[in-house]
Amino acid sequence: MVRSSNLETAPVLTSGSAREIEIRLTFRRLDGSSSDSVSKDIIEVERGFMSDQNTIIYVDMDDVLCAYLEGFVQHQAKHPELAFPQSQPGLYRGLEPLPGAIEGYKWLHEHPNTDVFILTAPSVKNPHCYSEKREWVEMHLGIAATENLIISPHKHLNKGHYLIDDMASGKGQDKFEGELLLFGSKDFPNWNTVIDFFKNHL
Ligand SMILES: [Mg+2]
Repeated sequence: MVRSSNLETAPVLTSGSAREIEIRLTFRRLDGSSSDSVSKDIIEVERGFMSDQNTIIYVDMDDVLCAYLEGFVQHQAKHPELAFPQSQPGLYRGLEPLPGAIEGYKWLHEHPNTDVFILTAPSVKNPHCYSEKREWVEMHLGIAATENLIISPHKHLNKGHYLIDDMASGKGQDKFEGELLLFGSKDFPNWNTVIDFFKNHL
């Protein structure tokens, strides 16, 4: 099996979309040999970048994939001396997934008509937040999902069709070019309602 870490050059796609299955990848290994075999990881990684037809969906992390508010309160109780409990490492890594979030994300990701990315704004004054978000994604969604993790405080700069976010503004959500699905609102109180929406819109 060829792993991406063994590649000297990135896979070259010659035609088609993920849906068309007809994928031609050319590899050049560090030892100079080539191979047509591809790992599932690599195909999953490439899915996010190869389609010009798919619906692009961004999924927020805090209070959409993971229970930030609940974790914040618990972390605050552990560190009452801190004015900003998120400054103490461990909060972001230790957040619990929200009910249905993992299953919902995987459903979207595995849908043949979608390219799904995690789009989360960082706590910029807390550098550990960046690495802990990355750790969380691998822990709960798998290593391939980390290739589709975008950490940005300017969400509107990402091109796409839908953004699932619990905040309507503050990090560019209000200027996002696609449609905002406001998680936690009357229309989208939970992941079941999000999936029901996409069953009718994909
Ligand atoms: Mg959020």
